[in-house]
Amino acid sequence: MMPEIPYKTYLAESEMPKAWYNVKAHMKGAHDPFLNPATRKPCAADELKRVFCDECVEQELNDADESIPIPDGILDFYKMFRPSPLVRAYFLERALDTPAEIYYKFEGNNTSGSHKLNSAAAQAYYAKAQGLKRITTETGAGQWGTALAMAAAFFGLELDVFMVKVSAEQKPHRREVIRTYGANVISSPSDTTAAGRKILAEFPETGGSLGCAISEAVEKAANTKSCRYVLGSVLDHVLLHQSVIGAECKAAFDKYGVAPDVIIGCCGGGSNFGGLIAPYMGDRLQGKNNIEFIGVEPASCPSLTRGKFAYDFCDSARITPLAKMYTLGCGFMPPSAHAGGLRYHGMSPIVSRLYNDGYIKAIAVEQKAVFDAAVTFAKCEGILPAPESSHAIRAAVDKALECKRTGEKKRILFGLTGTGYFDLAAYKKYNDGEMSDNVPTDADLQKGFDTIPII
Ligand SMILES: *Cc1c(COP(=O)(O)O)cnc(C)c1O
Repeated sequence: MMPEIPYKTYLAESEMPKAWYNVKAHMKGAHDPFLNPATRKPCAADELKRVFCDECVEQELNDADESIPIPDGILDFYKMFRPSPLVRAYFLERALDTPAEIYYKFEGNNTSGSHKLNSAAAQAYYAKAQGLKRITTETGAGQWGTALAMAAAFFGLELDVFMVKVSAEQKPHRREVIRTYGANVISSPSDTTAAGRKILAEFPETGGSLGCAISEAVEKAANTKSCRYVLGSVLDHVLLHQSVIGAECKAAFDKYGVAPDVIIGCCGGGSNFGGLIAPYMGDRLQGKNNIEFIGVEPASCPSLTRGKFAYDFCDSARITPLAKMYTLGCGFMPPSAHAGGLRYHGMSPIVSRLYNDGYIKAIAVEQKAVFDAAVTFAKCEGILPAPESSHAIRAAVDKALECKRTGEKKRILFGLTGTGYFDLAAYKKYNDGEMSDNVPTDADLQKGFDTIPII
C-alpha cells in the first residue's frame, strides 16, 4: 500500500543530492552552439572565458556527463537554505475539491526570496576558486542582485550590480538589501561606463533597461582586472545549478516510491523550470517515463507559445553571443502594464530545444488570472507567492480542476520559485481592481521579430 505522504518532506543531510543533473547528456546533439557576435562563427571556450568564469564555461559546453559533482564549498553554502521543502498542498487540494494530488517545491525560503541563490552560490564559488577578486552583474526586479550579493559576501568577492534605474527607484528596499550584503549598486544607465554614457547622452531622461544594464556590467568586467561577468538565468550552466531543485524533488518522491504525472514551472529565462524537470526529463529522454512537462509564461511576453526558434542576441544591446532559442526579438519590450515579472525576450536554449522537439508543452496565461490563483494559494497554503511563481500556480490549479471534471487522480508537481514581499505594488494594483490584461497583437510582436538578426 502507498504510504501516507506528509505535508512537508525535508531530506536529511545524508539524503541530499551531491551532484547536479546535466540533462544535455541525454539530448542527442544537445543544442546549436553560441555564435560570436562579430564573426557569427561558433564561440570557442577561450572567447567565453574572457567574459565568464572558467568552470562555468566548462559546464556550459559539457554535453557528455549526466552527473556533475557539487564541490564541498557549495554544498556547505547550500546547507544554509537547503533542502527546500517538498510540500503536499493538502489545503489547496481541499479548496479545489480535486481528486488530484498537488505538490510544490518551495524555493523562497532564503533572504533573496527565490531559487536564484542556487546558481549565485555556485558562480561566486567558482569565481573565488579561480582567484578572481570581483564580479559584475545586472538586475531588474532585484532577486538576482540580492542572491548574488549574498553569495559574493559569503565567498569574499567584490560585486558591482547594475540595477535598472526605474527598479532601483521603485524598489528602494531591494536596493538596500543588496547594499547591506556589501555589494555596490549602480543605477543604470550610469556615467561609469562608455555604454551608459552613450545612452545618457542620447536619452538623458531614460529609466534604463535590462539590455543597457547588461552592456554596462559586461563592459565593466572586461575593463577590470581579475573580474568576470555572471548571469542569473538562460545559460546552460545556470540550468545545471538549478537542477538541485529537481534532484531534491526526485529524492523525496523516491522515498515514497511515487513519481509525478505532471510537472509545471514558470518560465522567464527558463532556468528554474529546466532545473526542476532535469532528472525526470533525463529519464523521459531515455524512454523511462511519460511525464507531462508544462512551461508557463505570461501572455504579455510569450516567447515559447508565439516566438520564433532562431538565433538571436541574449541582450537588447546586441553585445552578447547569439543563441538559438525561442525569442520575441532582442528589441522586444513587454507591454508596460505587465506587472508579473518574466519579461525576458528569449528562452533557455535547452528548454527551447526540448520544446521544439515535442518533449515540453507550453502555455501562456493572463495576469489577472495569475493573481487570482496567487490569492487562492496564499489563502490556502499561507505563503504569499511571487507573481512569477504564480504563473505555475495558475496552471497547476487549472490542471487540478481538469482532474475534477474527468475524475483523474493525477499527481501534479509545480515549482514555487519565490515569495512576493517585494511585489506589493503589483498586488496593490490587483487589490484596487486596476490590473489589466495586456496581450500583444501580431503587429506588436512583428516589431520585435524585425529585431532578430538574419544569420
Ligand atoms: C527570476 C525569477 C523567476 C524566473 O526564473 P527563470 O529561471 O529565469 O525562468 C521566477 N520566479 C522568481 C521568484 C524569480 O525571482
